[in-house]
Amino acid sequence: MKVPLLDLKAQYRPIRAEVMAALEAVCDEQAFILGAPVADLERDIQSYVGVSQAIGVASGTDAILLALMACGVGPEDEVVTVPYTFFATAGSISRLGAQPVFVDIKPDTYNMDPALLEGAVGPRTKAILPVHLFGQCAEMEPILQIAARRNLPVIEDAAQAIGATWRNRKAGSLGQAGCLSFFPSKNLGGFGDGGMVTTDDQALADRVRMLRVHGSRVKYVHEAIGVNSRLDALQAAVLRVKLKYLEEWTKGRQRNATRYDALFKQANLLGRVTLPTVIAENRHVYNQYVIRVSQRDQLRAFLQEHGIGTEVYYPSPLHLQVCYKDLGYGPGSFPYAERAAQETLALPIYAELIEDQQAHVVETIKKFYSGS
Ligand SMILES: *Cc1c(COP(=O)(O)O)cnc(C)c1O
Repeated sequence: MKVPLLDLKAQYRPIRAEVMAALEAVCDEQAFILGAPVADLERDIQSYVGVSQAIGVASGTDAILLALMACGVGPEDEVVTVPYTFFATAGSISRLGAQPVFVDIKPDTYNMDPALLEGAVGPRTKAILPVHLFGQCAEMEPILQIAARRNLPVIEDAAQAIGATWRNRKAGSLGQAGCLSFFPSKNLGGFGDGGMVTTDDQALADRVRMLRVHGSRVKYVHEAIGVNSRLDALQAAVLRVKLKYLEEWTKGRQRNATRYDALFKQANLLGRVTLPTVIAENRHVYNQYVIRVSQRDQLRAFLQEHGIGTEVYYPSPLHLQVCYKDLGYGPGSFPYAERAAQETLALPIYAELIEDQQAHVVETIKKFYSGS
């Protein structure tokens, strides 16, 4: 039995005709950059996330970059974030000449430890950038409190968390701005790159809209040095179709997560495998179902031999990356991030996964630990 990490073909098959019709409509118009499909998607995302403004951009990375730019982040500034995330979180800060300042994660949720945040905020801090990792919101209450006390904007990296909620409020609506990614493997994935900034702040939204077209509100009049980062109409057309199914797919992911939890318990593996922890006030959307194990790399190879796809998110925390040598961190700076990088493994969790496949995953993990 084969169990791939992700099966986008299985997701595509039942919606193929609908997607093709949407693509055809854009091709017939021959209007590819922004335009009506993007404006329509922006409205759909506004109502899904529960914000008054949404701005389509070229990627999740650019959503972070543009949200930070709109908050005035530049050289000499610091932005506080986590070292255990996809590179884009910190890379976007550095692209603006600002400096990422890392705080460690919590060992159970892999999200920012708010207890460490206060100590990382200094006179040069310009924003706080928590990540809702794997599809679960960071602990927003203390983060928002510290930000309010220091009068700092919170930019949410919600790239993995569309549809996740904290106290019944959606990811992307909790801080000053939220950053979504439509990379194909995200819960709402396009047929290429895409992203969106979400906010309730009209002035911030206007700045992002200006910055995504070379800092221009009026054609050929440039009031700031922006970038070329627009969502294209073909992506928006695909995403509008797929957004209609997002809740159904999310429920599928949640059902599969519950099933894994039960299967691991039944298999008596809880001494070997640490399951994902979900905070009571959160709705987890499982962009990834991540377990923590010892002998992670050997287990991963064993699963691969048995036809099971897995992934390591992320094998090296950002403070140990070559490009961040000059930040002055080293091994031991963020012990929980470093430990997670050694021990976590993402299992297949996509909505179309069937129970037999999940049973095969758990049995194979059982076999690995019985043999060792
Ligand atoms: C995917 C991702 C991004 C970047 O999104 P892209 O659309 O690939 O540019 C940023 N942060 C996190 C946590 C991500 O998972």
